[in-house]
Amino acid sequence: MDYSVLLFYKYVSFNNPEDFKETHLNFCLNNNIKGRVFIAYEGINGTVSGTIEDIENYKTHLTSHKEFSDIVFKQDKADSHTFKKMHVRVKNEIVNSGLGDVDFSIEGKRLKPEMLKQFYEENKDFVIIDARNTYESEIGRFKNALTPDLETFRDWKNIISEIEDYKNKTVVTYCTGGIRCEKASAYLVENGFQDVYQLDGGIVSYTKKFPDTFWEGSIFVFDERRIVEPNTRQEIKHIAKCYYCGEPSSYYINCHNYDCNKLMVSCHKCKVENDYCCSENCRKSANKRKEYHG
Ligand SMILES: [Zn+2]
Ligand SMILES: [Zn+2]
Repeated sequence: MDYSVLLFYKYVSFNNPEDFKETHLNFCLNNNIKGRVFIAYEGINGTVSGTIEDIENYKTHLTSHKEFSDIVFKQDKADSHTFKKMHVRVKNEIVNSGLGDVDFSIEGKRLKPEMLKQFYEENKDFVIIDARNTYESEIGRFKNALTPDLETFRDWKNIISEIEDYKNKTVVTYCTGGIRCEKASAYLVENGFQDVYQLDGGIVSYTKKFPDTFWEGSIFVFDERRIVEPNTRQEIKHIAKCYYCGEPSSYYINCHNYDCNKLMVSCHKCKVENDYCCSENCRKSANKRKEYHG
């Protein structure tokens, strides 16, 4: 465990993403940092990995930009790099929302992990909504959470009619690290929701403080780890089921028949036994993936 993974984002008006891209990429290449960083006029969003020492240098470097001097880092241990390469990209949005210009001044109130835990413990009358994609909520979610059918975050704008009944209730939104909820929660307020909170620091911050409580299952992450398992209690360690045998699992595979490519949760034993294919037909396909992962 000599490596660190760093997650961070900040919405802040940023003037020269193109210049930043060049110098930032060079810094990362020269300092053995791998991962992906998105930079836009609206801010920054990144996940990077490196040795503990290199990551400390990275943090110092990033916070030397005045726009990012107070950025919040979420840091995790890792056995090795969790990315193969380093990418820095200039984007229109640091997370694709398609929501247009969001008025951050009306975003949902920030709910500390302690407060969310208290909401649960006191049986408060509240609705908790997952702002992540379906393949993320499928393998992990907060207890009793609504998990709208979102193929991508761009679908968020379509869920209002689905949740309209909760306009006068206390609503809590959550996502992995908080970045999606800043926009998702503002969008709910904009659409007439009266009492909107967003989980501060997201699932990552909550589960770090309170594993084995109200978060059930695994956390999908966008690096080579694929998932993080915050819980040790057997009954909430995995909430999804193996496509083949039905045993609890959180690991995704795509059917190795390229023409099918079906996304499924599988335990290790079954994926090997089934040659990473969803069916006998797919196993016989001539158009199969040659590489095996995990
Ligand atoms: Zn299985
Ligand atoms: Zn298949």
